[in-house]
Amino acid sequence: MTVVHMIGNAHIDPVWLWGWQAGVDEALATLSAAADRCDEYPDFIFTCGEAWLYQQAERLRPDLFTRIQRFVAEGRWFIVGGTYIQPDLNLPTEMALRRQVRHGQAYFQDRFAVQPRIGYNVDCFGHPALMPDLLAEYGYTAYVLGRPGPSQMDIPFAAFRWRGAAGAEISAFRIVDSYAYSLPDLRAHIMQAMAQADPALGHTMCFYGVGDHGGGPTRLQLDWILEHRTAFAGIELRLSSPQAFFDAIAPYHQSLPLVEGELQHCFPGCYSAMGDIKRAQRHGEHLLDQAERAVVALSSDPAERSRHLAKIDAAWNDLLFTGFHDIVAGTATPTAWASCRAMQGRARVMGEEVVLDATRLWAHRALPPSHEHRIIVINTDDVPYDGFVECETWMDFELWQDRFLSTIDGLSVPFQQVQPDVTHRVPRLLFRTCIPPGAATTVLVRKGPPPPIQDVSCDLAVSPTLLANSQLALRLGPTGITGMAFDGRPLLSARGISLQLRHDNTDTWSTATDRWTESLSATLSGGTWEVEETGPLRAGVCMEHRLGTSRLRWTLSLLRDDPRVFMRLEINFDERRTLLQLGIDLATTPVRRIDAVPGGTVQRPLTPVEYPVQGWSRLSQADVEMALITQDAYSLSADGRSWQWTLLRSPPMAWLGDTPPIDHGRDTYTDQGVHDLRFALHIGTTLPDAALNIAARRMAQHPITFERTEGIRRPL
Ligand SMILES: [Zn+2]
Repeated sequence: MTVVHMIGNAHIDPVWLWGWQAGVDEALATLSAAADRCDEYPDFIFTCGEAWLYQQAERLRPDLFTRIQRFVAEGRWFIVGGTYIQPDLNLPTEMALRRQVRHGQAYFQDRFAVQPRIGYNVDCFGHPALMPDLLAEYGYTAYVLGRPGPSQMDIPFAAFRWRGAAGAEISAFRIVDSYAYSLPDLRAHIMQAMAQADPALGHTMCFYGVGDHGGGPTRLQLDWILEHRTAFAGIELRLSSPQAFFDAIAPYHQSLPLVEGELQHCFPGCYSAMGDIKRAQRHGEHLLDQAERAVVALSSDPAERSRHLAKIDAAWNDLLFTGFHDIVAGTATPTAWASCRAMQGRARVMGEEVVLDATRLWAHRALPPSHEHRIIVINTDDVPYDGFVECETWMDFELWQDRFLSTIDGLSVPFQQVQPDVTHRVPRLLFRTCIPPGAATTVLVRKGPPPPIQDVSCDLAVSPTLLANSQLALRLGPTGITGMAFDGRPLLSARGISLQLRHDNTDTWSTATDRWTESLSATLSGGTWEVEETGPLRAGVCMEHRLGTSRLRWTLSLLRDDPRVFMRLEINFDERRTLLQLGIDLATTPVRRIDAVPGGTVQRPLTPVEYPVQGWSRLSQADVEMALITQDAYSLSADGRSWQWTLLRSPPMAWLGDTPPIDHGRDTYTDQGVHDLRFALHIGTTLPDAALNIAARRMAQHPITFERTEGIRRPL
């Protein structure tokens, strides 16, 4: 006999083929219908997660909210998940995943006095290896997921043990067929659940209810279940909850099949579509993290500190919402994006306000009065900063002339004027600084004549065909970087590092593939490099050119005596059903590949399969390693010597790959317009994980710099 736990639920996408306002309407309608089912069917239990859904009822239907609170207290309404929404799980940072749990758990504890202990991400596209460790840390015991499905990842039975990268283990259940099922007759759905059930357990789950746009279990479905409780040989249908199921199989936990690490592969098109949303999300998460670090380091007054932290919490609510799995994944309807961008923008401005308030309040409090023109640099990180910073200074329309930088003790600080944002007499300065964790330094802008610079050594060489220092030499050509040598050893094949466009006729999710197999439509050629910076601290070149119908600017720079290549790509992307890729063609096949993922790293095979990556990827040879660090691209493959990063992707929005009639909706393509992406290619004999993690974080969390001219006598 197998007990089939019938789980009445309603998957609700707050944004997908509709905007967030429709998401609120569907949440209220679904929760209301579920409360009515609880009234009508005494044995019915409704299963529902995500604090955001309940917040809508609390705000707009307090009567309904009170009923839900009563059903929860009576055990008729089971809260799963404990997160704010069901987020995308490939792109968010570890801190965003932790915030999902913290904000959700705090809400459910406060409003319902419950602590959900079953993770619930039934529609998310892939699950990171960190998840069991993170869930166990927060007291979770089990997890329910829907994807990847059986055709994407082989798991022997629906119920299994899932072990995380750090070794924590929880019970897990992969929903069979779908979380949503609309037909009144559930026979076929139940039989599919039975086909994936381990007979030895005697229990499995079957999820039913109208989903996606809400709805929930219907009367016809409940009547059907009650009529067929014992209608099938060897099966008992039981109105139930996930908790009852996991309690029933708990004695068999150790006999469940073990699955280790990340649960992939699912919808690789979602790693790159809607790049601007992904980048705003990633940089927004880092901004709020940096704001919190700034408050902790600088705000000593308890009232001031708690005011800042409350504002950061509120800003996170916006980013937790836009972290939803049809927003960050890039799969929503065209009309939804404006509001999503505005929510990300609201979080950004709140984060910027906290950073500004915390730093300026501190500066006024902590820095002595001065008549000098000062540049303040604050290291918000918990490790020392030893590197270069850039900042622009306002000179009252004067030219820089013989001004120079010095420490407050009068020691000259080597600096270089580098490409400013605008041409109108706002110099941009590059200089090196060392700052302890959570501390600040002051650099003075002083008028000449400058003292003699002690350190004038410069190993930089730059021309339209060469960018080099004592460790790295890059040959430049019309296709990009045509050669690169590290201590004289060639690292690239003749194809080098270039940009390419590839046909991509897959749907918005790329549901039917795990790799890009279509042909190239264009490769960069005929470009010329122009020297922009010549040292003594940094040398750089720039190419402005066209690729397909898109205009681009590609900037490369090298610091002196430093084995890193900094790349910036600005592109006005105007391609349809096309991928923009950065191709790195290596001289020899790597022996090992490590990709950073939320909360850690995973070793992955050298394969043409596309994978999501977070922050960096490293390829190792016997005696040299290369790591590409970026917060602006999230999708790659490494196949033999071909290291290929997918930067942009342009299918029609929310398009399932069919060819609808002309009057069934217009095509609007993703990723059109201006994009700005930055990369750092690190090269060394060994590139430790910890150093790469810090470098990746710093790509999004630069030291905070600002001018302090309060109190100075003008003109300068
Ligand atoms: Zn969904």
